[in-house]
Amino acid sequence: MKKEKQVAEIIRLLKKQYSEPKTALRFRTPFELLVATILSAQSTDAQVNKLTETLFKKYKSIKDYASASLEALQKDVSSVNFYKTKAKNIQNAAKMIIEKYNSEVPKTMDELLTLPGVARKTANIILSNAYGIIEGIAVDTHVKRLAQRLGLTKNEDPVKIEQDLMKITPKKEWSNLSHLLILHGRNTCLARNPRHKECVLYDLCPSRDI
Ligand code: SF4
Repeated sequence: MKKEKQVAEIIRLLKKQYSEPKTALRFRTPFELLVATILSAQSTDAQVNKLTETLFKKYKSIKDYASASLEALQKDVSSVNFYKTKAKNIQNAAKMIIEKYNSEVPKTMDELLTLPGVARKTANIILSNAYGIIEGIAVDTHVKRLAQRLGLTKNEDPVKIEQDLMKITPKKEWSNLSHLLILHGRNTCLARNPRHKECVLYDLCPSRDI
């Protein structure tokens, strides 16, 4: 099967299983989504949502993150991995957004990539989920693993994997593909012991016997 056809079939089957794919991270503003996405690296969405439930009550505006003492912010996010670096990135991103971007989270990939702690994955998540702008495909650990297992890429580097997926997926499905693969990676195509037998992609997956 050609890769374009295969990916169209993957999207069709996964949409049947997971209707209305969207990020599981809770947020009310683009900056809250930025905070949640930075916090989510190497942590689960459930952990982040639990933390942001109280964090977002204490820090109500970008200014609150920029003017807090770094030690206090680090303490407030200390329930997730790498909290010291994440707090520093959040605070520096807040300062940069206030100084350089008129207190608004930027809406372009190039500008988002200037923010501390933001690489293409995070930028894609912000653009598509906060602004409805599709510039690429967010490649996290699940998307990487599934794209490889499904034979959609041979690359290891997330930026190259994103390019491979963009070439074979219609642009209107870029955001959906990322969400769907993440959901399927969490529910069925687990990193260890993937549940091949109950997988809707079984018939078109070259890794079903691993
Ligand atoms: S058949 Fe197995 S390896 Fe392929 S997508 Fe499904 S769970 Fe993953």
